[in-house]
Amino acid sequence: MFENLADLKIYEAGKPIELVVREYGIEPKDIIKLASNENPYGPPPKAIQAVKQTANLMHRYPDDSFYELKEGLAKKFDIKDSNIIIGAGSDQVLEFAIHAVMPKKVLMARITFAMYEIYSKQFGAKILKTPSSMHNLDEFYEIYKQEKPEIIFLCIPNNPLGECLDAKDVYEFIEKIDEETLIIIDGAYQEFASFKDKNKEIKPKDVLKYQNVLYTGTFSKAYGLGGMRVGYGIANEFIIKNLHKLRPPFNITTLSLKAAIEALKDEEFVKIGIEKNFEEMKKYEKFAKEHNLKYIESYTNFIVLYIKNSTLIAQNLLKKGIIVRDMASYGFDALRITIGKKEENEKLFTILKGLIN
Ligand SMILES: *Cc1c(COP(=O)(O)O)cnc(C)c1O
Repeated sequence: MFENLADLKIYEAGKPIELVVREYGIEPKDIIKLASNENPYGPPPKAIQAVKQTANLMHRYPDDSFYELKEGLAKKFDIKDSNIIIGAGSDQVLEFAIHAVMPKKVLMARITFAMYEIYSKQFGAKILKTPSSMHNLDEFYEIYKQEKPEIIFLCIPNNPLGECLDAKDVYEFIEKIDEETLIIIDGAYQEFASFKDKNKEIKPKDVLKYQNVLYTGTFSKAYGLGGMRVGYGIANEFIIKNLHKLRPPFNITTLSLKAAIEALKDEEFVKIGIEKNFEEMKKYEKFAKEHNLKYIESYTNFIVLYIKNSTLIAQNLLKKGIIVRDMASYGFDALRITIGKKEENEKLFTILKGLIN
C-alpha cells in the first residue's frame, strides 16, 4: 500500500510560534517569526473588523458563489467573475490545476515552491527541473522541446530565492509553447515585484488571451491573511470552468470570505506594508555588505543571505526566539529571512552579528 507515495516528502512549513514556546520556553511576545513570508504589520484593520462582525454567522456556510469577493477581484484586475476561481489559499488552486491535468511530466526551476512537486507526484508525474536553480527561460524551453511536459510552473517572483523574471520575457516564452501544455504563473509575490519594478508586472488580464495559462494569486502575503487561507486563480473561462469541477463546495470559510472582501478595500494598508518592506530590505542589503555576505536581489518580502553553517546559525537564532528558514536542505548554506518590522529586523541584526563573528 502507498507505494505511489514512497518518494513523496511532507511539506516542511515554517516553524510555528507555538513550537518555540513549547521547546524553548520563550514567551510568545518575545518571539520574532521571520520564516513564512507573512505580513509583519498584521491583517488589514478592515478585515479584522469584518471578521468580528461576522462571528455570529459562523453557523452559516458562506455564499458558495463567492460573488462579492469575485466582484472585488474582477474590478481590481479589470476582468470578469467567470475568469476567477477561489481556493483555500492559492495552494488549493494549484492542486485543482494539477488534479485537472493529471500530468505525466511537469517542468519547474530547480529551486522553487515545493508544492508544485508534491502535488504533481501525487499523480505519479515525472518531475523535470532546469539545471539552474533560478528561473532560466532558455533552459525551460530546451527541456520543454525534448520532453513536452503537460504543465510548466513559473514562480514569478520565485519562492524561496526571490529572483523575478521580466514580464516581456515571460510573454515571449508563452508564445513559443504549444496550447497542449498548461503554463501556471504563480504570482504569490506579484504585489511586491510590480511595486519594485514595473518590468516585472504580470497583469492577470494579460494572461486571459492565452488558451493555456493560469495565473494564481493569494491573500496570504501582501494582504496579510495567511491564517484565513484565501487565494485565487485567473484564466480564460474554459480553464476556470474545468477547475470548478474539482472544487469542493464551501472551500473557504464564512469568516475568510468576509476578511478577503474587506482586505481588498484596504489598499492603503497593503501599499504602506509593501513600501516599508523595501525600506527595511535595504537594511538587510547593507547588513550583508558590511559583513561580506552574498545575497540574492529580492522582489518579494524575504531575502536569501548566504551564511556558512546556516543550520547551526538558524538553530542558535531559534534559541533566542527568532525563527528563520534554513536553506541547507536545498543544498547550500543560506538563510531565507522574511523582512520584518523595523524593531524585529534590528534585533535580528544584533543577534546575527554576534553569531557570525
Ligand atoms: C505562499 C505561497 C503560495 C500560496 O500560499 P497560500 O497561503 O496557499 O495562498 C503559493 N506560491 C508561493 C510561491 C508562495 O510562496
